[in-house]
Amino acid sequence: MKKIIDISHLILRNENEIKAELLHDKVLYQDIESIVSYLESGTMTISISSPFHCSKCDDYVAPCSHYTDGEWLWGVWTVHFLKEHNLELPKKFVEKIRSLKYKCPKVSEKDLLEFS
Ligand SMILES: [Zn+2]
Repeated sequence: MKKIIDISHLILRNENEIKAELLHDKVLYQDIESIVSYLESGTMTISISSPFHCSKCDDYVAPCSHYTDGEWLWGVWTVHFLKEHNLELPKKFVEKIRSLKYKCPKVSEKDLLEFS
């Protein structure tokens, strides 16, 4: 069984509120566009959380599906917070994205089933 890291456990305070200290006024990453494109090219997985409203701009961030790269799992809403509210991602995740040169590995259906 592979271990997958759900970033929502690291960045959410409760079910649908991001820790305030992780939202910044300024762009944090010079390579933000590349990071966004990595996040958007993850393998889509089943939805495992409730619909998500952005508490900052009241946008409805739907659908609440999740992406994965086989190691990390992130909600579609992560992209909204990264682009609109300068969300600070877990350091190890950003390091991994950069080390892969922003190319998100594809995860096979078989591997997806192994995640729990
Ligand atoms: Zn927002």
